[in-house]
Amino acid sequence: MTKFLFADIILPLAVRGRFTYAIPDEIVEDIRPGVMVTVQFGGRNHYSGIVCRVHDSKPEIKNVKPIISITDKIPLINEFQLKLWLWISEYYLCSEGEVMKAALPSSASLNSFKPRLETFIKLSGNFSESELNIILDKLKKAPKQQDILSSYLSLSGFTDGQEIQPVSKALILSESRSSAGILEAIIKKGFLMSTSQSVSRISGVDDYKEPIKLLSDAQESTFKSIKSEFLEKDIVLLHGVTSSGKTEIYIHLIEEQLKKGKQVLYMLPEIALTTQIILRLKRHFGAVTGVYHSRFSDPEKVEIWKRVAGKDQPDSYRLILGVRSSIFLPFTDLGLIIVDEEHDGSYKQHDPAPRYHARDSAIMLAAMHNAKTVLGSASPSIETYNNAVNGKYGLTELKERYGLIKLPSIILANSREAYRKKLMVSHFTPELLQAMDDALGKEEQIILFQNRRGFSPYIQCSECGWIPVCIQCAVNLTYHKGINKLVCHYCGYTASMPSECGNCHSTGMVTRGFGTEKIEDEIKIVFPAARVARMDQDTTRNKNSFKKLIRAFEDRRIDILIGTQMISKGLDFENLTVVGILNADNLLNYPDFRAHERSFQLMEQVSGRAGRRQKQGKVVIQTSDPANKIIRLVLTHDYVNMFRMQASERMTFNYPPFSRMVKISIKHKDRTQLNYFSEILGRDLKNIFGKRVLGPESPVISQVQLWYIKTIIIKIEREKPPAKAKQFIIEAIERLEKEKGASSLRIAIDVDPY
Ligand code: ADP
Ligand code: ZN
Ligand code: ZN
Repeated sequence: MTKFLFADIILPLAVRGRFTYAIPDEIVEDIRPGVMVTVQFGGRNHYSGIVCRVHDSKPEIKNVKPIISITDKIPLINEFQLKLWLWISEYYLCSEGEVMKAALPSSASLNSFKPRLETFIKLSGNFSESELNIILDKLKKAPKQQDILSSYLSLSGFTDGQEIQPVSKALILSESRSSAGILEAIIKKGFLMSTSQSVSRISGVDDYKEPIKLLSDAQESTFKSIKSEFLEKDIVLLHGVTSSGKTEIYIHLIEEQLKKGKQVLYMLPEIALTTQIILRLKRHFGAVTGVYHSRFSDPEKVEIWKRVAGKDQPDSYRLILGVRSSIFLPFTDLGLIIVDEEHDGSYKQHDPAPRYHARDSAIMLAAMHNAKTVLGSASPSIETYNNAVNGKYGLTELKERYGLIKLPSIILANSREAYRKKLMVSHFTPELLQAMDDALGKEEQIILFQNRRGFSPYIQCSECGWIPVCIQCAVNLTYHKGINKLVCHYCGYTASMPSECGNCHSTGMVTRGFGTEKIEDEIKIVFPAARVARMDQDTTRNKNSFKKLIRAFEDRRIDILIGTQMISKGLDFENLTVVGILNADNLLNYPDFRAHERSFQLMEQVSGRAGRRQKQGKVVIQTSDPANKIIRLVLTHDYVNMFRMQASERMTFNYPPFSRMVKISIKHKDRTQLNYFSEILGRDLKNIFGKRVLGPESPVISQVQLWYIKTIIIKIEREKPPAKAKQFIIEAIERLEKEKGASSLRIAIDVDPY
């Protein structure tokens, strides 16, 4: 075996480039890609890093430092992961170390993984049935001890004639309602003994298996067409209307892969969604099904990680349901990746780097494993649909709902008219109230969607118009009534509710606009008998809050659920018939080239929650502009024309998917300095890219946490490979970083901003 002298190491730093260290003789046999090592970097700091390459080319520096130690001989990171990290860092212009930080649950806990130990109780000898009966009979005088022994015997499977298993001590104590002291007493008598066993940290491992559902004819032909597309293409878009049964089709595709012994990754954009889908999957696939998202603790994440890595272990997860970061799990043999709600913006990470798109990265990951990818959506992104009509991806369509239930009927309620005619009750139009009243009368359920949390987006002095803003950001403060505070949604700064105007000292401060909290308050007044709940970032801070809310709604303990975009996607409720969209205007008027696409998707998505089982649902959209072209398209669920309209606009103005976009954000705490440096970078980039450069401009939110912000956008032609352009961008930024005083700038690059 050749012995390599040097190793390139990925360190968890935002510094571009790889770091080369010398391999000491003692460990040369063990150093290979994927192992974790400790090295010194910058002064005396010690870091854990991952070896990504071993070689013999001496770097051009004088003193190559040696690796200090190796953490574990077994690689923590496999070759697919290393490849994915490299791809993400090259494509999204960040360091591999930044990818490493996003990818690892926590490097410390990953290499010091300790199984969780729990105390179990078992019989202290091989007692026969008659012996046990005798023991139970001796114990007559100690009825509490007798209780414990019989609880143990029934929990251990003995009473049912099964093989006797150890039983968790906590479980015995709670079942027999006994104390640890009594258990000690019976242990002392020599009948039971305690042992220590490692247990899973992940709760609820159910191993019940139901056969998967038979597909309808339409679903069956879609399923077959996906498979025939796969003969020629690696990526297929499943464009299926809401409630057409896309999830059931995925389940059939998953089953085929699991039978072949392959791993499957099923991605969702929102944690809330995993709650329902995980049950649907476990029902069929049982304990091989795992879930992964950011709400798990580090030790839990590490356990999931290990169970994915150990594909051939008895407790391995072969089907993972996960959000964005699940692409980083140590898959060894993927057969299929499903990206559900592929159009969803939450797949893109905004801050910090790596600013990766999990759908696009998943496609790369699948390619590395020679696996297939299904992208699913009722309203695909313009990018994806464009790839499908161009033939780059396969395309299959499913145009009917399961059970041939009609798509919900949509009613436009003109809120401007209603205000003018004084027909509004609080923020509700007569049309919405009527629909809600009907539904409540029939004991059906309702969802109300409002894309703002808090009570009111801003408060204002009724005398002089003064509005309180954040002391660190250029944004209005949102009023939260529950805590009676003003809150900045960008930095979390809070202030108490002012009793008087900060400008003219009048006491006439009034709330403006409305968020979910206000809707909740007012709907309780309008429908005092209804049971009302709210699902948004503020009500779902605890680990199990999603689950509780979703269960309560499923069990019909809630009549009206109010929420932000969290409630708009993928949820499947049997008895939900009415959806209200409280303010379509603020979706449509957002200043972004994707605003129209996004509003269509959101409205289509949230409408899709209504009427999924027995009967057609109803959606009321409140808007001051019912003639709006996007709203007209939502009215007829006309995705294809929405696509055509958006595609032609984007082609005209050279927006993605007809160009590639790179956005550079430059931040400085001093506005003049920021202007100075951003102009330098802008000029430099224009010298290279000419008219492809837009800006520097101030973004809508021009200051966050005291940092002033300017953005520069570069639109690069699709036809050319982007690597060279990206190299020019990096070089321009490096030139800027060498300017005097530039070290107090913060520069962020966002490739394919979303
Ligand atoms: P989508 O993912 O397209 O929104 P779902 O897969 O959630 O649709 O299907 C909508 C509802 O119809 C779900 O409750 C699902 O269980 C049910 N359903 C869909 N297909 C079938 C089928 N073939 N047999 C029985 N129920 C089905
Ligand atoms: Zn005032
Ligand atoms: Zn702020």
